[in-house]
Amino acid sequence: MEKLIIEKSNGARAVVFNGAKTPETFLDKKYLRKNSPKLPELSELDIVRHFTNLSRLNFCLDTHFYPLGSCTMKYNPKSYDVLCSLENFTSIHPLTPADYTQGTLEIIYNFEKLLKEITGLNAWTLQPAAGAHGEFTGALIARAYHAKDKNRTEIIVPDTAHGTNPATAAMCGFKVVNIKSNARGRVDLEELKKVLGPKTAMVMLTLPNTAGLFEYDILEISKLVHAAGALLYMDGANLNALIGLVKPADMGVDIMHINLHKTFAAPHGGGGPGAGGVGVREELKDLLPLGRVSFDGKKYSLEIKNKKSIGQVKSFWGNVAIIIRAYAYLRQFDGKTLGEIAKNAVLNANYIRVKLKDYFPAFFDEVCMHECVFTTPKDMPSLKALYVAKRLLDLGFHAPTIYFPLIVPQALMVEPTETESKQTLDAFTRAMKQIFEEAKKDISILEHAPHKTEIGVIDEVLAAREPNLKW
Ligand SMILES: *Cc1c(COP(=O)(O)O)cnc(C)c1O
Repeated sequence: MEKLIIEKSNGARAVVFNGAKTPETFLDKKYLRKNSPKLPELSELDIVRHFTNLSRLNFCLDTHFYPLGSCTMKYNPKSYDVLCSLENFTSIHPLTPADYTQGTLEIIYNFEKLLKEITGLNAWTLQPAAGAHGEFTGALIARAYHAKDKNRTEIIVPDTAHGTNPATAAMCGFKVVNIKSNARGRVDLEELKKVLGPKTAMVMLTLPNTAGLFEYDILEISKLVHAAGALLYMDGANLNALIGLVKPADMGVDIMHINLHKTFAAPHGGGGPGAGGVGVREELKDLLPLGRVSFDGKKYSLEIKNKKSIGQVKSFWGNVAIIIRAYAYLRQFDGKTLGEIAKNAVLNANYIRVKLKDYFPAFFDEVCMHECVFTTPKDMPSLKALYVAKRLLDLGFHAPTIYFPLIVPQALMVEPTETESKQTLDAFTRAMKQIFEEAKKDISILEHAPHKTEIGVIDEVLAAREPNLKW
């Protein structure tokens, strides 16, 4: 295993030849450091090699196919990194008066207009810094909406929701009411009717749900929710499955968030911040966080006063660089071409689903959306999802999400995304078939995988219970 830099420290500084000029030779002694902190000391070459080698141990989107379900690790045009790094964006001080920041405000304003068209929801905030932060904002809006009705203390969450949904509801002081899904992995309407009532503040639906499935009964669901006086929240983190094909407002959604990372450019977990914009129906508009951009026909400005608002959820304007990337990405499309994103995301997931049918069956055997949840074959009980994930690393692929959603035994949640080529998908399915064959022949190859990575099989329980952290 690669040593820590402090362990490699050997007192060297740079390559210094006898007689060459170093600061010590020409600086007055009084400027020289006396009590240096104990930092690792290596030659410059050794430092560069240390960090370069560390970076090469990583599996990342720029080096490998990364089908991590729910996380949408997809192509992120490098030109957008250049765009959002333009000095006119990066050099703005957050307190600069609006007169000097009209361009950036205009982008935020225009982006909001595009989101309105795409979702049918009337007003947006781009402040939340992540998907979960968007949910938090949405739950606070629901609380403010029901302020006069103190009985509405519950949020209903199906068992196919993303894990952040119940966590958010609980964090905002709501009681979380779980409902079991039906045999097809969808909301069970009878279960919903049983718990829906005068105590319900909101129902949070992940759509597509974490089984990668569309809720066919969405119109019936939204009717029931509204008849009970509650709000319908859509976790639209993965809107890349639906964008351009259906508008959430038409399905009866009152509040939603979109992960601008994931759905537009910037992959989730790409090492940077995210953005979880929240959109609402007209009657909830005033409850949105402060700091929205308005336009009076001449000038863009930031709203800083509004008595009904839930307040501010993030300092200044949110993660503007992500908003600029997302805006640039969206501008490539129009109303006719936008649906291509979703069609390709759905096609790619289903391509893998069908190709792997005889090896790793999809748990819900029907057309999926942007991701497919596989399980291990019933007649191979010793083959665990964990082994498949680890062995994939040996074969040059990042592991999919495993053991999630919880309703699927030995779940392998694969999200190929809309931007991978057929060749890559074919290579991935070949690797999966190889793992299947290996499992039939000699499961021990899989039990001890990965073999080719710097760190092999780890004791996961020990790592979780007694982490030995080094930095
Ligand atoms: C990723 C994801 C979230 C959480 O988003 P973060 O940006 O990680 O907070 C919520 N819901 C779904 C469905 C997701 O896929």
